[in-house]
Amino acid sequence: MNIRTRFAPSPTGYVHIGNIRAALFPYLLAKQNHGTFVLRIEDTDQNRYVADAEQVLLDTLKWLGLNWDEGVEVGGPFGPYRQTERREHYLKWAQKLIDKGLAYADPYTPEQVQQFREEAQANKQAFLYRNYRPENPPEWHLGLPLRFKQTKIERKHFHDEIMGDLEAGAETLDDFVLIKADGLPTYNFAHVVDDFEMEITHLTRGVEYISSMGNYLALYEALEITPPVFVHMPHIMAPTGNKKLGKRDGAKSVQEYRAEGFLPEAILNFLVMLGWNDGTTTDIFSLDDMIAKFDLTRVQRAGARFDEKRLLWLNGQWLRRLDIAKLFEYARNSANPADYSNSFWGEHGRIASDERRLEVLAAVQERLKTLADLPALTEYFFAAPQIDLTQITENKFLASFAPAKLVELLEIAISALETTDWNADALQNTLNDLLARTATKPAELFSLLRIAVSFAPFSPELPRTLAVLGKDETISRLKKVMDTLAK
Ligand code: GLU
Repeated sequence: MNIRTRFAPSPTGYVHIGNIRAALFPYLLAKQNHGTFVLRIEDTDQNRYVADAEQVLLDTLKWLGLNWDEGVEVGGPFGPYRQTERREHYLKWAQKLIDKGLAYADPYTPEQVQQFREEAQANKQAFLYRNYRPENPPEWHLGLPLRFKQTKIERKHFHDEIMGDLEAGAETLDDFVLIKADGLPTYNFAHVVDDFEMEITHLTRGVEYISSMGNYLALYEALEITPPVFVHMPHIMAPTGNKKLGKRDGAKSVQEYRAEGFLPEAILNFLVMLGWNDGTTTDIFSLDDMIAKFDLTRVQRAGARFDEKRLLWLNGQWLRRLDIAKLFEYARNSANPADYSNSFWGEHGRIASDERRLEVLAAVQERLKTLADLPALTEYFFAAPQIDLTQITENKFLASFAPAKLVELLEIAISALETTDWNADALQNTLNDLLARTATKPAELFSLLRIAVSFAPFSPELPRTLAVLGKDETISRLKKVMDTLAK
């Protein structure tokens, strides 16, 4: 069987990180079966229309590497792939239902329907439109809502690849809207038509749609369509408590995570593990690993907890694992240089050659948690830091040293460094010799030298820091600190 899956987002301008799981699962299913991953844009809700939203969505998917084989932009045999461009397809299927007596015009105004709803509520009954179905509906024409007519009020059974064997009670079946007053189809109608016409074999979506399955099954039957395989993904739960993840629970849009220096690799790795593991303790998966190992039978039914700390941890893991050239490319594209002055992206960083920036990036790679850490971690490589003697005199390892002693230590260090070959190994040897000669501990001498060249809270290992900084720059910074201390 040629597996065809789809991601069918509604472009709202805001690509919530949780929504991307709805792209990742079908992507993986398609790829691991050498199938086709389709991107369809569900833009029939004109109230939610946002300019540029589709572009944001496409950019986000591309940035994440979730490339689609068929759909908007790339085309394919079942286009168009934007629902607002498919009106005649829905009207054709709607006509078929009308002809069979399975759809009718809804003559009521929204206010009247609201009144029915309130009436049902007042009687403590669940509102079902079909209880108010008009006896002699007018002939349907564009401008009136068209409703599905449920004719078999019965319990329905279906199978879901994740959730198992399920049932939908007769009380969930209603005469839902197929075509709205504005002439556009509802999601309920359009997705059934499109999935069929686009030959989708596996329908993946969030478990929140399960409660409407009774209606969808009735529609498949009425249209004489064989339904696809159903794959409903578990809820994503808020970090704490027993509720679904909402906007207020701290989860952000993919655009925001991107701006904060998160990598696509980390985001995808994080998302695949929302509800799935491979049965081992492995928690690092590249997209290729996921394609090889993802397995629907191992997706849990229970809600999966959203834990941003885990995302941050994975980001650090991926920053360390990435090939340096790839990391450099991400770093280069990750921030707006105007936001920074002396950093990797800023003026000094830009003056520096790519070779130089790569060397600096490689030196701090181990310490990055997000790409946004780059300015703080690299600033002193690009521009001499402001001397702040209190960082030395109040340092817990150095506070007991008199200034004169610190000057002496710096003097000895400078003269030893002046005759050292400038590479990390040779520097390591010199620094070890200096410890013996000055009878200081690493925490003392190395802190002094590290602070004097960087005045930064963190830096790579000292020999590496000095090697990347360069001989002239190192010695000139140490001398300046020594002179300032001597005054
Ligand atoms: N357009 C729907 C949404 O964004 C898609 C649901 C589905 O995948 O069928 O929620």
